[in-house]
Amino acid sequence: MDVKVQELIERIEDAELVLAGIGEEFQYDWNALLKDTRYQEIECEIGDDERYIWIVPFLQKMILRRGREERWDRAYQRLEKLLAGKNYFVISLCIDDYLYDTGLSEERLVTPCGGFKKMQCDKNCTGELTEMPEESYQSVLRYYKKEIPLADLEEPVCRRCGEKLRFNQLGVQRYAEESYLRQWQSYTKWLQGTVNKRLCVLELGAGMAYPGIIRFPFEKVLYYNRKAYLYRVHPQLYHVGEEIADRSVGIAENPVDFLGRLSFSDKDF
Ligand SMILES: [Zn+2]
Repeated sequence: MDVKVQELIERIEDAELVLAGIGEEFQYDWNALLKDTRYQEIECEIGDDERYIWIVPFLQKMILRRGREERWDRAYQRLEKLLAGKNYFVISLCIDDYLYDTGLSEERLVTPCGGFKKMQCDKNCTGELTEMPEESYQSVLRYYKKEIPLADLEEPVCRRCGEKLRFNQLGVQRYAEESYLRQWQSYTKWLQGTVNKRLCVLELGAGMAYPGIIRFPFEKVLYYNRKAYLYRVHPQLYHVGEEIADRSVGIAENPVDFLGRLSFSDKDF
């Protein structure tokens, strides 16, 4: 194990609080879906036909339901182990919901970009989230299995206004932030409690997609809390600013691989 990894584990052990930010580099890349022959056929069949674009996220959901892929599974297990017994909070930009399949406490997680757990009206006409209509999912699945033709599929719509029903993710016409606001409040309150504490900050693959959510606020935390220490892991954007250089380290690596190679001397993995 290299020095940085060993040092990171020790620093987390020593910290009073641990803040982890999971960025877009950590997002599942739909590898299994893109390599799937049936999916490739479907892509050809749909082409640019906007009437059927909606089935793609349902197919993504199908892949996610199959369970975490090994590479991510290992990384999340390591993260869980790193944070075990600590006073932590995890903020993630990923929409794959993998974070919720760990043993980490949901009370200590926030995913402001949403995910596949709930759906919403594209225009958010009620400010309410809804469950995914299982029948829509099942019919996409049947189409995937070639049991029914594409023309039989019907896009689910909002019961109230008839607009498209979409997965609750940043990028829909009017994003229903109701899904994460309560956890966001817990997060900001938790952050206030880190002032002047020994805080270890772990930034895992947060680039410039939404720098206002993880990168910049984390730098600000470092700037004000002299007892904080930052690990910034990113394949390209791992550099840290001069003003915090003495209390941070940049690691040029893919964050999923980085976590995956952590090992803990006292426990077998
Ligand atoms: Zn609506």
